[in-house]
Formats: sequence, structure tokens, C-alpha cells
Amino acid sequence: MSKKYDVIVAGAGPAGLMAAQVLGEKGARVLLVDIKKDLPRVHRACCANLIIEPGTHREWVTCKDGAFHFAENRFSIPYSGAVIGLKRSVKVSAGGKTLTIAGKSPEGQVAVSYEKEALLQGMLARAAAQNNIEIMPETQALGVENTAGGVAVKLRSKGAEFTVQGSYAVAADGVNSHLVESLGLNKTRRTFLGRFMVASYHMEEVDCPYPESWITFMGKGHTLGGRGQIYMCPKPHGGATDKTVYELTVGVPALGGAAPSAKQEIDHFINTGKFASWFQHARIIDTRAAALNFLTPLVNPVEGTVAVVGDAAAFIETYVQGAIMYGYQAAHAIANQLATGAGLDAYARSWGNSFEYNDPEEIKRSTQGFGLHVLEDKDIDYLFGLTAGDDIHGFVNEFSDPLTVRTALFNHMTQIERERPVLAATLKRFSDVSVAEALQVNAQ
Ligand SMILES: Cc1cc2nc3c(=O)[nH]c(=O)nc-3n(C[C@H](O)[C@H](O)[C@H](O)COP(=O)(O)OP(=O)(O)OC[C@H]3O[C@@H](n4cnc5c(N)ncnc54)[C@H](O)[C@@H]3O)c2cc1C
Repeated sequence: MSKKYDVIVAGAGPAGLMAAQVLGEKGARVLLVDIKKDLPRVHRACCANLIIEPGTHREWVTCKDGAFHFAENRFSIPYSGAVIGLKRSVKVSAGGKTLTIAGKSPEGQVAVSYEKEALLQGMLARAAAQNNIEIMPETQALGVENTAGGVAVKLRSKGAEFTVQGSYAVAADGVNSHLVESLGLNKTRRTFLGRFMVASYHMEEVDCPYPESWITFMGKGHTLGGRGQIYMCPKPHGGATDKTVYELTVGVPALGGAAPSAKQEIDHFINTGKFASWFQHARIIDTRAAALNFLTPLVNPVEGTVAVVGDAAAFIETYVQGAIMYGYQAAHAIANQLATGAGLDAYARSWGNSFEYNDPEEIKRSTQGFGLHVLEDKDIDYLFGLTAGDDIHGFVNEFSDPLTVRTALFNHMTQIERERPVLAATLKRFSDVSVAEALQVNAQ
């Protein structure tokens, strides 16, 4: 295959679809490839909540009148699916105590739950409507090379391997990117040597006592192995919200040996866990999974004529909205580069300035948000119990949530110091918790 494209986009997730669409609108000849057969189908676990806190990635994303609006970057994308406004974030201890954060947005929401498949369907339809975008499903990108004339991307489709040539490439193949690995860029990243395995169920007929809430289960007693993260939130399904579908997501560090898997943990949680009664009548209607490797973000997401966008460049995740935003920015930068011979560095600058995890301290701060898990269950019960009746406001956002929780708990510090001095001292030392400890990927 010798056809030369202006841009080859590997990965048709939110980042790749957005980049392909913008480049197509600018008149570029685009090849978009994805390993999946049914591109909008989501197999990878993703809670798909719109993070509406202003300032996230230096953006403010809202959902209104059938579109997601990006206020700072000044663009919108249509979204025709249903949404559920989440009014509160409820953290539930193993003993059933709660710390409740009410929504801080003008609508009183902490986040907005949407349907990722509906979003991707709309994005794919807009890309497919442009005849200068060629879409190849069931095609895996194996690697990319900068060449004298641009890029060569190695692909595998239906058992055959071949190389396509382009002027530029967009690596949008997600968190475990083959393209980033093939460029040797993972050698430039720090790894925390940990891996999280995630399992997720979509369920009907869940008896959840906290409607319209983002629920986080905190504490060792929720899991068999005493580690991990558990989230639950209501999801629109098939464009509707009349029948409440809950998405339950469990992530556990991959420790090997006899450590329980994510599947074992999620099954334990719904069948024999402390809140199994919520799931007595539940019916599983969809399952998803993911593997997360913890590598620091790419300092420079542009390597020669390859722009790395979305999770492919990130520590864990850019969020769906971040993937869309960076896809949009990278596409504009490439379009400028194609038109004028300059401009690609604008994307690299924006990435450097806006992606929070580029600041190593932010990785520490936000992973410490998970770090309440290092406390004993009785301590979390006690601390959450203190917050009953408190008026706490905030958002679902890994960058601000740790501070919201910390502030809520520290408001009770005088009482904690009096009643539980050892716990008070532990809380005050919380900023000493290492990233590996907070992620629970350290051996015990
Ligand atoms: C447990 C969990 C919960 C999350 N919750 C939220 C949330 O509430 N809100 C939010 O905004 N974000 C959330 N995220 C993050 C979100 O899923 C990602 O940030 C986002 O999907 C990244 O988009 P992307 O396009 O960069 O990558 P992806 O969505 O991963 O898309 C990558 C695409 O590339 C394709 N691909 C992969 N490898 C290849 C290859 N070699 N060749 C060809 N194609 C390939 C894949 O099939 C896929 O279509 C969550 C993630 C996880 C794991």
C-alpha cells in the first residue's frame, strides 16, 4: 500500500475521533484506524462522568442543550445521548458511615453521568460523513517511525501486515499505546511499577439508597484482598434513563500469586460483601475491563511528526473530555503545520501547561486521595461519622477531591486530637504517604 495520507490517526477513541474530525474538516486526507470492529462499542472500563469543575485541564466543560461545551477552547461537540446529573459524591466506609459532598456547580451537581457509546457514535458519524477521512476498523497499529518524508505506520489487518505512509501521525491508541512504545518514549517515563486491573458491571435492579450519586466505597473491608478502589454511579443506557442502570467498577493492584483478581473482587462485592443486599435482585447487562500501567506523562507529546494525544501521553488518564480537547488541539496544530510548516509545537506547549500530572507533586497529591485506604476501617468509620451533618461542597475530580476530603476531616481535627491522638498524627502525616503506598502497589 503506497498511498500517502496527510495524517494517519491510530485509535478511534475520543482523542482519535476528535483529531480525525477536525483534520478532515480542514481538508486533510486522513486515515483513521482502530483495532475494534464496532468502533463506538466500549469494552474498556470507563465511568464516563463529565468532570464539570472549572479549571480541569485549564478548561471548563459543561453539558447543555445536547452538546458538550469547551468554554476555554471555544468549541462544542454534539451529544445526543441521555445524561444523569449527579447531585452528590458519597463515600461509604466499610461500616456504612458516609462522607457526603454536595454538588458545587450552579446546578448543584458534582459531575454529569453520560453514555460513552452514544458520544462515540455521534463522533464517528461526523468523521464518517467526510469523504476525505478513510476509516479502517479491525486494524491494529503496531508501530510508527519518523521517516525522511514524514511517518511510516505499521498496521495489521485481517492477518496481513503492511505499512502506510503519511506526512504526520496521531498516536491516540490509549493508555498502553503501542505507538508510544515503538517510538522508545516509554524509556523517558518514570514507572511506579504498579499495574491496576479493573472490572466493571452494568446492572439493572440495584437497590441503591443513594440516588443521583457518585459512590466510592472506602476501606479495606470492602474487598477480599483489603486493597483497591470501588466506585458506583447511575448510567443512562440505550439513550434512556427511565430504568436506572448502575455501573459498579472495581480496580485492584495486580500483585500476582494468590491475590484476588478484579473479577473475584467485584463478584465478592455484589454476592457476599457488606453491601450485597443492594444487589440481591441485580441483573448484569454489560461487563467491561481495563488494565492500567502507571507511567508519568510524556514531557513532550510530539516526537518528530508524531503527535501523541489523550491517554497515550498521560499518567493513567486525561478523562474523555481531556482526550477530546487534546485531540482538538493537536489536530489544529497539525493543520497549521501542514498549511504553514509551523505550529505543531503549540500543541506540546498546551499539553505542558494544562495537563495537571505534568507536575509530579500533582501525582502525589491526587493519588493520596486514594490513600484513605491506608487507614484502618474503624478509623474511616470514625472519621466519616464525624462529618454527619456537615455541609461539604465539591466536585468529582481526582485533582480537587483529595483536598475537599482532607479539609472536611481537618475541620474536626481538635476533636480527633482529643479523642484519637494517634489517628490525628497519622492524618497530619498524610502528605508523607508515597505514591506506591497510596496506589497500594507496594508489597505488604
Ligand atoms: C476505571 C476508569 C474510570 C474512568 N472514569 C472516567 C470518568 O468518569 N470520566 C472521564 O472523562 N474519563 C474516565 N476515564 C478515563 C477515560 O476512559 C479515558 O481518559 C479516555 O477514554 C481516553 O481517551 P483516548 O481516546 O485517549 O483513549 P481510549 O478511550 O482508550 O481509546 C483508544 C482507542 O484506540 C484503540 N486502540 C488501542 N490500541 C490500538 C492499536 N494498537 N491499534 C489501533 N487501535 C488501537 C482502542 O480500541 C480505542 O478505540 C476512566 C478510565 C478508567 C480506566
